[in-house]
Amino acid sequence: MAGRVDLDGNPIKPITICMIGAGGFIGSHLCEKLMSETPHKVLAVDVYSDKIKHLLEPATLPWADRIQFHRINIKNDSRLEGLIKMADLTINLAAICTPADYNTRPLDTIYSNFIDALPVVKYCSENGKRLIHFSTCEIYGKTIGAFLPKDSPLRQDPSYYVLKEDASPCIFGPIEKQRWSYACAKQLIERLVYAEGAENGLEFTIVRPFNWIGPRMDFIPGIDGPSEGVPRVLACFSNNLLRREPLKLVDGGESQRTFIYIKDAIEAVLLMIENPARANGHIFNVGNPNNEVTVRQLAEMMTQVYSKVSGESSIETPTIDVSSKEFYGEGYDDSDKRIPDMTIINRQLGWNPKTSLWDLLESTLTYQHRTYAEAVKQAMSKTTAN
Ligand code: NAD
Ligand code: UDP
Repeated sequence: MAGRVDLDGNPIKPITICMIGAGGFIGSHLCEKLMSETPHKVLAVDVYSDKIKHLLEPATLPWADRIQFHRINIKNDSRLEGLIKMADLTINLAAICTPADYNTRPLDTIYSNFIDALPVVKYCSENGKRLIHFSTCEIYGKTIGAFLPKDSPLRQDPSYYVLKEDASPCIFGPIEKQRWSYACAKQLIERLVYAEGAENGLEFTIVRPFNWIGPRMDFIPGIDGPSEGVPRVLACFSNNLLRREPLKLVDGGESQRTFIYIKDAIEAVLLMIENPARANGHIFNVGNPNNEVTVRQLAEMMTQVYSKVSGESSIETPTIDVSSKEFYGEGYDDSDKRIPDMTIINRQLGWNPKTSLWDLLESTLTYQHRTYAEAVKQAMSKTTAN
């Protein structure tokens, strides 16, 4: 760790980071990176700690004096301001961010993504502390191209679908499509953070993740999460593969996504943390434009990769179609396509993603198989016996 320098060749000084939502998927990888590769201290705030337990115990771990866990619900805990004051930088990851919640629990979604984030922004601004706020690629909503006729040649023109931080509009569906409650709440908190920067000099960076995936994402229903829970697509499809049941393609699986390996994305976040002069005042897309697939293609690739890593042949009917109303309920809607423009992050931080979709699925599904296959088998044999 000795002699670490930033992108401008200046030595990097150890800092204290208040990380809110540190016990989640992204938080757990960021804590891991900060503990193993940097000298920084982390005040880890969350209501859960299972995903970072391996970093907190035993007390003999080499970084034991650099990470502290604070079990705090930021909705109603007066200790939050004190932690933000103690830190040089606050990173806010806390959110309800699973699409199954956006249309079924819109109030919780809006409160979590807007109201609960307000005091964090306020404390940072009032105490002159730097803030890295996690937003979402969903802020862009639908592409302009989605409104063109299906056979229009303009659909092939990148200016109709590539998403640019400083140029693309945010296009959401009508209010009754409650799917957009999340995107809308995230948009308003982005505008608030930006306005605090413009009017009160808050030093901020906004991150828009584009489908980061990898180990520890969400949960496997009935194993380490509720049986009826619906996680994001990686965990839904992993669950189907582990149980040898068909992968469910919502509305035909025609939507397109670009997936990025969590470890590539974390490199980008570390650059933001350690290069404030280059990151402050910016909004960054963080994704991998080279890893685009339809959800149907993702299902097919995951089926092949899982066969390879588990040694099990795939089932006869690997996918089935399901309507979004049946799968998510009333008020679901979808983003059609998400390709991040990379100009700003490239220019400011010189960062590029590296891992191909096949490779990231191979390491992630190896993890899923090792972590869950036995537990799923046992749970299924119990159900059959009953
Ligand atoms: P996650 O659900 O795994 O992590 C969020 C963490 O925040 C959880 O551990 C949760 O317990 C915690 N949290 C929520 N409310 C809290 C509260 N009131 N008090 C304390 N802790 C609370 O999600 P993630 O994938 O790690 O996402 C982190 C951030 O990145 C979120 O803001 C999300 O909107 C954003 N994001 C992620 C992705 C992605 O690809 N993973 C995509 C777009 C946006
Ligand atoms: N999806 C699907 N089957 C599933 C879970 C999700 O077809 O079992 C689709 C979902 O409708 C969306 C895409 O996969 O089009 C990605 O969903 P995810 O939950 O990861 O979140 P999003 O990218 O929409 O934020």
